[in-house]
Formats: sequence, structure tokens, C-alpha cells
Amino acid sequence: MTNMSAAEKSHRIRLLEGLPAGSLLIHEIYRSLQGESLYAGLPCVFVRLAVCDARCVWCDTPHAFSQGVRQPLDEVLAAALAYNTPVVEVTGGEPLLQPDVFPLMTRLADAGKKVLLETSGAHDLAPVDGRVHIIMDLKCPDSGECDDNRWENLDILKSTDEVKFVVASTVDWQWTEHVIREHRLQERLTVQVSGVFGKIRPHELAEWILRSGLNIRLQVQLHKMIWDPQARGV
Ligand code: SF4
Repeated sequence: MTNMSAAEKSHRIRLLEGLPAGSLLIHEIYRSLQGESLYAGLPCVFVRLAVCDARCVWCDTPHAFSQGVRQPLDEVLAAALAYNTPVVEVTGGEPLLQPDVFPLMTRLADAGKKVLLETSGAHDLAPVDGRVHIIMDLKCPDSGECDDNRWENLDILKSTDEVKFVVASTVDWQWTEHVIREHRLQERLTVQVSGVFGKIRPHELAEWILRSGLNIRLQVQLHKMIWDPQARGV
């Protein structure tokens, strides 16, 4: 897999051009159950930012690539807080493409929320408020985005954060196992592994994990078991 050209990446984020400071391009804000992290099963407000510069072949939120509404940061904050729910997840798309996501996360944390950030792992995590619980993907080869993993981020993650691998094949699993061992990830933080929905069955992944001897977590996409797997806003 080759690196996508800078021109192609910038084409993908053109929707963010001219976005005024102090505002965000929001795809949707809603309340549901957190589906895939250490917080899985808890009620959670999702702030989904529009636009992503990646194109994982199995992406389940392509609708967020191009559909968004400009909203002042204050309005986004008020909408998230109005749900009166302790856990708020900032997700996308790729949320770190928008500079005002950083003050948004800080202000949510200032308001006493447990803030979760779900990110592709391709962008610098250094500016993220230290109170934020980061769930960072390491993209496996079959995603098509493996070359853009930002390995320096592994040194920024806290021991309380999570690294997530989404596995679509045995090749992905072998790569995952290698990366976990090479970077001693299981000793450093929580490692979650999930199968691409419809491609890898949970029991296959469970057997691979048990055979590996690694102390890592099998993650099932809870919301896809509860609701229609194609449903949005859940
Ligand atoms: S990083 Fe996330 S939103 Fe972007 S293409 Fe991959 S799965 Fe979809």
C-alpha cells in the first residue's frame, strides 16, 4: 500500500476550508450507548465531527466524510451538555482535523465530563488535554491506511488510554500480533481488538487471541448487536 499524495489528502479536507475560528463542522450530536471501548455499555453523548482524510475500506461512517453543519463552539458545547450525561465522546470522521476540537474537549472536561476521543491515529495527539481518555486506532494493512499510522503517538498515550486494532483478515491479525509484541503494547496500556463486522466472526478472533497468549481485549461492536448494523445515530 502506498502513501496517499498530500494533494489527495488535502482534497478530502477541502470542506474545512474557510471554517471560522471558534466553530466546528458537525455531522451529528446524539445520545446512545458507548459501543466499543472500556466505557462500552454506558450512556454516552456522541459529538461526531464531519470530514476524514482517511478512507478505510471498511469504514462504517462514510456519511460523515461530506455531510456537516457549521456550528459555533459554544453551541456545540451547549448541545452536548444539554443531555446531562457524564460521558461524552468526540469522534468523526477524524476529529483532530479541526483545530477547535481541542478547546471543545478542554471545556467539556472543565464541565466535569469524562471525555473520550476516538481518532484514526494519523494525527498528533500532543495538543489533546491530559484529562481526555484517548481511543486511538492503529490501522491494519487491509484498511488501506496502514502507512499513515503515526507511531510517535504511542509515546504520548497514557497508561489509561486505549489502542484499537480493527482486523479484517489473518494478514491483519498477524500484523496486529507483531505490532503488539514489538511495541510491548499490552504492558503499556489497554489493547482492544475487534473484527470488521461481517468479515471476521467474534469466535475466530477469540481463538486467535487465546492462542497468542496476549492479554488483550476482544471488542465487539455493541451498538451493532443491539440495533440494525446499518443504523445511523446509535
Ligand atoms: S479513520 Fe474512521 S472515519 Fe476515517 S475512514 Fe477510517 S474508519 Fe472511517
